[in-house]
Amino acid sequence: MHAVAIVAAAGSGSRLGAELPKALVPLAGRPLVCWAVDGLLAGGVTEVVVVVPAAQREAFRAVLPPAVAVVDGGASRTASVRAGLAAAGAAATAVLVHDAARPLTPPEVVARVLGALEAGAPAVVPVLPVVDTTVLVDDDGLVVDAVPRAPLRRVQTPQGFDRRTLAAAYEALEPDADLTDDAAVVRRSGVAVTTVAGDERAAKVTVGHDLTLAELSLTAALREATP
Ligand code: C5P
Repeated sequence: MHAVAIVAAAGSGSRLGAELPKALVPLAGRPLVCWAVDGLLAGGVTEVVVVVPAAQREAFRAVLPPAVAVVDGGASRTASVRAGLAAAGAAATAVLVHDAARPLTPPEVVARVLGALEAGAPAVVPVLPVVDTTVLVDDDGLVVDAVPRAPLRRVQTPQGFDRRTLAAAYEALEPDADLTDDAAVVRRSGVAVTTVAGDERAAKVTVGHDLTLAELSLTAALREATP
C-alpha cells in the first residue's frame, strides 16, 4: 500500500505561548514536526507532505529531510489539509492525516491505522477511552447532567483514509467549512469510520505542561532503551 501522510503544521501555537509556530518548538532539541515525521515513516508511511504557515516555509524546509514535501497551509486546519491533499503524489492509494502537535505518536499506532486500511476500512481513527467522569454544564458553570462515559472515546491522529474517499468528501464540503478532524469530513458524506486503539503517548501538545510531559515521556523511553 502506498500511503501518503499529510502533517498539519500550519497552526500558530499561540496557546503554547511560544514565538515560533508550534510545530517548530523544540522537544529535546528537535522541532515537534521532526518527531512527528519520524513516527510516521517508522510506522510504514511511504511519502510525507508537511503543511506549514507560508511565512515560515524556509524555516520548516531547513529542518525537514529533503524527501519530505513542504506546502503552504491555509487559515483553518481544514484549508491546510486541503492544500496537503492537493500536493500528495499521484501514486498514493491511502492518506494519513496527522497533527504535528502529536510528536511522540508511536509507530505502532501508525501501523494499526495502515493495517485497518489494508483490511478494507475506508476511514480509520485511533481512539482512547474517557477515564474521567464527564459532565454537561450550563453558562454559569453549574453541572446540568453527567454523560455516560462507557461509549465515549477521545480521537487522536493519524487518521487514515482511502484516498478517493477522502478526496471526494473534501470536494463535497463547503469551501469555508472548518472541522476539527478529518473523520468528521468523511462522516458528513456518510462514510463509516472504524476505530483502532490509540496511545497516551500520542497526546497533543497544546499548553506548556504538555511539552513538559512529552520531555518526561522521551526520557523514560530512552532509559528503557538503554541496557
Ligand atoms: O489548534 P489545534 O491544536 O487543534 O491544531 C491541530 C493541528 O492543526 C496542529 O498540528 C496545527 O498546526 C494544525 N493547523 C493547520 N492549519 C491551521 C490551523 C491548525 O495545519 N490553519
